[in-house]
Amino acid sequence: NADSALHKAKDSGRETFAFYTAEMTEQANQRIRVASELRRALENEELDVHYQSVYELSGQKLVGCEALVRWNHPTQGPIAPNEFIPIAEESGLISALDAWVLNKACKQMQQWLAMEYDLKFVAVNLSSRSLSEEGLAEKVEATLKRNQLDARFLELEVTESTVMESPEGADAALCGLREIGIRLAIDDFGTGHSSLGRLKSLPVHKLKIDRSFITNLPSDNEDVAIVQAILALGASMGLDVQVEGIEQEEQVQFLQQCQCTLGQGYLLGRPVPADEFTALLAKTCKDK
Ligand code: C2E
Ligand code: MG
Ligand code: MG
Ligand code: MG
Repeated sequence: NADSALHKAKDSGRETFAFYTAEMTEQANQRIRVASELRRALENEELDVHYQSVYELSGQKLVGCEALVRWNHPTQGPIAPNEFIPIAEESGLISALDAWVLNKACKQMQQWLAMEYDLKFVAVNLSSRSLSEEGLAEKVEATLKRNQLDARFLELEVTESTVMESPEGADAALCGLREIGIRLAIDDFGTGHSSLGRLKSLPVHKLKIDRSFITNLPSDNEDVAIVQAILALGASMGLDVQVEGIEQEEQVQFLQQCQCTLGQGYLLGRPVPADEFTALLAKTCKDK
């Protein structure tokens, strides 16, 4: 009867409610667990940095690399940055993580240069939290000094959304970084909301076109138009343009035709541990 139907609905309503709260609590607990394990991992040097090569597309010459953090969890195995970086950001661990990666990458780059490998830059990612940190430029400068690395060999990548979302803060931080002589790149370009006026005033050297515009090259006409437009923009503003996510030979050919100078992607090289990257350098990049 109607009465018992009502009862059922109420019951199941309560169950649904209870179910959702339990799930949400579980998710929140999970994030807290991951954050505390990440803190431990950072202290115990359970994290590692892999390096992905960046090529000059014309002669396919290796010119630089991007440092990418890796977490090999003792019981769960490798955890992807897209899973733990957001947790590091919300738990406030990200600045320590970025600083750790930066130090590691600078030390490694200095060693490669000392071995006379002809690399032009190592690129390190900075989260928006790190960019808005007090005294960032001084900390970066101290890291360079500690590792005896000349500032011109370091490139810092900040995403387009980071730069565009906090105009005042980001501008001051970027200017401070530029003053110490490092290079700046806007990562994932094309996915944020750039104002061209702002772009003009930013002290950056490079635009990195987001992988999502590269995946369907050269068959997708809209992606072709977007990539060509960004290349033209970069050329006329005197900025380097680099693409990420090259996986196919046809993409390389298309990008070469478009005069795109720099690229990275699984086709050219996957991110690899430092010793593997050193072996790659020994094969392809001896200066003398
Ligand atoms: P990102 O900075 O845009 O880095 C490029 C990502 O694309 C890397 O993923 C790289 O492994 C991947 N990738 C490179 N070539 C290809 C390709 O041809 N195909 C495909 N499908 N993927 C490719 P990864 O290492 O998983 O990092 C993901 C994101 O996590 C990075 O995106 C960056 O935003 C963030 N991240 C990584 N390391 C750090 C770090 O040390 N600090 C901060 N703040 N963020 C980091
Ligand atoms: Mg990057
Ligand atoms: Mg990127
Ligand atoms: Mg990306």
